[in-house]
Amino acid sequence: MPSLFPANDPIQTLRIRRFLIAAGSYVMWIIIILYGHYLGFIRLPFGGILVALGIIFSINIIIYTIFRTGWNKKFSDPSLTFPQMIIAALAAMVAVYYADNIRGVMLIAYIVTILFGVFRFTLIQYFIFTLFSVACYSTVIIALLNNHPDKIIFQVEILQLVVFATVLTWFSMVGNYIRIIREKLSATNHRLNNALTTIHDLAIHDDLTKAYNRRQLFEELKREKAKADRSGKVFSIALFDIDHFKKINDTYGHLKGDDVLKYLIHSVSHEIRGIDSISRYGGEEFIILMCDADASGTEECARRITNTIKHLKFPGFPESFRITISIGITTYRPVESIDDLIARSDAAMYQAKSMGRNQVVIKHPE
Ligand code: GH3
Ligand code: MG
Ligand code: MG
Repeated sequence: MPSLFPANDPIQTLRIRRFLIAAGSYVMWIIIILYGHYLGFIRLPFGGILVALGIIFSINIIIYTIFRTGWNKKFSDPSLTFPQMIIAALAAMVAVYYADNIRGVMLIAYIVTILFGVFRFTLIQYFIFTLFSVACYSTVIIALLNNHPDKIIFQVEILQLVVFATVLTWFSMVGNYIRIIREKLSATNHRLNNALTTIHDLAIHDDLTKAYNRRQLFEELKREKAKADRSGKVFSIALFDIDHFKKINDTYGHLKGDDVLKYLIHSVSHEIRGIDSISRYGGEEFIILMCDADASGTEECARRITNTIKHLKFPGFPESFRITISIGITTYRPVESIDDLIARSDAAMYQAKSMGRNQVVIKHPE
């Protein structure tokens, strides 16, 4: 079914919604004009009014089409505020020209109409728009003096013009002030959002290796456990520990040891699927969470990882420098506790150590 708004484009949807609200103010004008005509205050035959309304309606359909087709994105201001305001102002001034005793009412309606767009203007646009409006109204006064001098009281029109110009200038200043506040608010919002993203990032990641931290590991495990308990889907974990890491620290220093951890996790993260995650469980012990994976799938992945790691060259270390890891694997057994699951993978990992290290050991739930 055709929709008023484009799918999956919230910014265009917002622009169209704003356009429809603005177009809605034409309803107010139609009521004023029709009632004014009924009272005999509009110097235009009914047919003329219908033609004018038809023109306004067509223009709005064109503007809507421009928004709906996305053509507006080609302009420097894709919300098309300025052209929409100029069109509304021109239409209103034509009505002002044809109104006699209710010209004052129409000037009030004019202000209400422009209120919608005025807070989105830049200072230069305010200035141009105010001058344009005052020029339009002055033209209306001159045209009335020439064509219908009996229909106007010159001094009243001049007083109205002065008030009109003053109100518009006032709106320009307040509007500009509000625009500046809006921009500041939006910048602050942007900064806050960035800060929140950073804080969230810091809260779930380990500073050194950028793997998930222990807290996040348990969150991930809880989520997978809930999924598995609900649907019976299996998941597995692979707990690994670096072999003889103390020796690396002793030989190269703690900072170089840190570099090994960083580069190791960077490399392992390339070996796992996007849906899996790696977390720092303790000092140099990490847990890979394998979603939707049984023990054999996890074993295959673990063997690939041990193989990659034992051949991995570490930047900043001697050419012959290599490390190995020992991995313990297990699969979740429904409704068991997370602690039991980890304890089983830990036991498997220690078995891998005792078997000479650089091994993968699977421990099935009993
Ligand atoms: P094994 O093969 O039995 O695992 O021997 P290992 O030497 O690796 O023994 P263990 O796993 O018990 O050693 C952990 C060492 O890791 C001790 C600790 O100083 C070091 N370590 C833990 N966290 C960090 C860290 O963040 N940076 C560095 N550089 N070292 C760490
Ligand atoms: Mg170790
Ligand atoms: Mg250890």
